[in-house]
Amino acid sequence: MFDKNFEDARFSLNICNACRYCENICPVFKAIELRRTFSDNDIIYLANLCHDCRGCYYACQFAPPHTFDINIPKIFGTLRLETYKKHKSSSFLREIIEKPHFFSIAIFIVSFLFYTISSIIYTKKLRLIGLVEQNASFYSILPENFLIITMLIPFVISLTIYIKNFIDYCDYIGIKKGDFLKLFIHIRSLKSVILLEFLDGGGFGCNYPNEEYSLSRRIYHQFVLFGFKIMFISTLIAAFMSHILNTSPPYTFTSLPVVFGTIGGALLLLGLTGLLYLRTKMDRIPYNENTNAMDINFITILFLSVLTGFLVLLFRSTIFMPILLIIHLSIVITFFIMLPFSKLQHAVFRYVSIYKYFSEMNK
Ligand code: SF4
Ligand code: SF4
Repeated sequence: MFDKNFEDARFSLNICNACRYCENICPVFKAIELRRTFSDNDIIYLANLCHDCRGCYYACQFAPPHTFDINIPKIFGTLRLETYKKHKSSSFLREIIEKPHFFSIAIFIVSFLFYTISSIIYTKKLRLIGLVEQNASFYSILPENFLIITMLIPFVISLTIYIKNFIDYCDYIGIKKGDFLKLFIHIRSLKSVILLEFLDGGGFGCNYPNEEYSLSRRIYHQFVLFGFKIMFISTLIAAFMSHILNTSPPYTFTSLPVVFGTIGGALLLLGLTGLLYLRTKMDRIPYNENTNAMDINFITILFLSVLTGFLVLLFRSTIFMPILLIIHLSIVITFFIMLPFSKLQHAVFRYVSIYKYFSEMNK
């Protein structure tokens, strides 16, 4: 299956290299033009450099129903999924990528039971509704250090897998250790990531969700990206206030962690809702349906993490706080555990590919 995908990609890329009609649409075609032949490693690099803007699909005179069946976004989408599986060391880990809904629900149920039983042991009470006094701290449900450790363990494991994937992928596409230390290239690559400039479709926007040019996908992606960053800042401020200033949560609605968390969360919800909406409208011919489960799963878990976070914030002074907190924690831990098997893997592979692209262009 993997070999057949490489052969299909090689066939298409050789035609593209002769045609060159798309050379100004995106960086992938500039990288193609630097090559006369395409090794498997080159193809994986190009597939992960592709941002799925779909400009080449709608521009192509050889796209389906032409017998050449050139469908670059679809074949690259297929190869990206294979890249994610290839960097998992066992068939069990690869299965998590293939059945993300099943594993996410299973992790959520186990986490929910774990936190519920832990809370019952800690509070010596059986009720999850009406357990606390008004304005009680979250730490009256579960102890602070216990929460930190249970969140930190899956996060650190996921981060370790990301770092391993990063090193393996650098090696696979031919970036040597010393080559990855060029500050100028990193600054240029980071600028590209922050602005999502490869989603500009040559200046007019992506051909997404259909043939018409649109900036909507890029804008919704920006919302998600900035939402993540602002939420991270909120977490840092909360940690500083808790551990350095010794002020325990819950913080007021006008405090910095809550204000930053609210802005970040709102941006995330807006971006994720927009991306989900665009998916309902998208042309499915330049899309590999096998990636659907992974794509939807990531958006859904992230959306539910933020939504339940807001619910905890809104109902934290009510009798529903304990049950909402435990549901929220269980979803967040599911998110952390599923991270190395989620759509977010593309962040590592794409960043390294963008870095390689700018390195090649800088020679
Ligand atoms: S995608 Fe089609 S139009 Fe674009 S370079 Fe390849 S063959 Fe030519
Ligand atoms: S889908 Fe967009 S980013 Fe991907 S190869 Fe085609 S033009 Fe480039």
